[in-house]
Amino acid sequence: MSRIALITGISGQDGSYLAEMLLKKNYEVHGIVMRSELEAPEGRLWRLSGILDQLTLHPASIESYPSLLKIAQKVIPDECYHLAATSYVSYAFEDEFSIFNSNVNGTHYILSVLKEAAPHCRFYFAGSSEMFGKAKVAPQDEETPFHPRSAYGITKVTGYHLTCNYRDNYNMFACNGILYNHESPRRGNEFVTRKITNSAAQIKLGLAKELILGNVDSERDWGFAGDYVDAMWRMLQQDVPGDFVIATGKLHSVRDLCEAAFGYLDLDYNDYLIVDERFFRPKEEVPLVGDASLARKVLHWQPSVSFEQLIRMMVDEDMWFLQHKSRFAGETKNI
Ligand code: GDP
Repeated sequence: MSRIALITGISGQDGSYLAEMLLKKNYEVHGIVMRSELEAPEGRLWRLSGILDQLTLHPASIESYPSLLKIAQKVIPDECYHLAATSYVSYAFEDEFSIFNSNVNGTHYILSVLKEAAPHCRFYFAGSSEMFGKAKVAPQDEETPFHPRSAYGITKVTGYHLTCNYRDNYNMFACNGILYNHESPRRGNEFVTRKITNSAAQIKLGLAKELILGNVDSERDWGFAGDYVDAMWRMLQQDVPGDFVIATGKLHSVRDLCEAAFGYLDLDYNDYLIVDERFFRPKEEVPLVGDASLARKVLHWQPSVSFEQLIRMMVDEDMWFLQHKSRFAGETKNI
């Protein structure tokens, strides 16, 4: 009999890669989506378009305990991957009340309904390097203290502790992944990788003339989302639950990104770059770079796509999409 997986946030970048991977492994895959997404599948569900007929999608708000309980009672999942979250990283707090509702309550509700309806279910929580925020040491690993500096980071630290507490207090098989930035051709335009690869493609095709960025000396540890969903799955296949940093361990600057994307198209990014202070964010004194030794040792996980391959993959997709856009008449590719 196939195992049953339930994915919150299935329509996002990670959800779509994870769903594809689990289908290949013969899982019965269920996803929770917003009702508005189901009503216009050609819009928000574009990442799932190749597999929609193989999925069972349930409309519900992650902020509604009764709706989540009904779904859990109906599906009775063996594995639950909780990826849904408001992911905007803002350093202002006054506008951020709603993110606490969706991210903190959403995680608490889903843990609680699983305890109620499917206590055997294995649970994955999508933590983030933003939990380390203003880290004092680099690289960071599972023992590094959290020091979040954004509303998003605080909600992820809270989700992490909720997950640990359901594991300790209720004996649930619950794991935290602490994932560093992971990108793909399915990444949204609000992230700097996509902004750069899309601008490079547009400039190459004569559709744009400039690349407007914030701090180009910022550094990140960027990996490929397809590799990172494999790590999520591996965590839930262990004999004992645990928490794992998932990262490449390699730092690259925004400049390196520009060089990789523009260089691939035989362009020099310096000819197009405009630095705009509106996009500046406080730079980390200690860079966010992960040490995934534990995942390598216990999960036998390692990244398979290099930084250059990742950027090329994204540029290829942007070039293809811009050249074939007319084929998508009526469809909004929401990147
Ligand atoms: P994040 O790690 O979740 O914040 O991922 P982003 O892709 O949004 O940002 C990665 C890094 O790129 C951060 O250090 C930003 O400060 C830097 N960056 C520089 N220019 C830009 C820009 O124009 N847009 C974004 N999103 N980030 C930028």
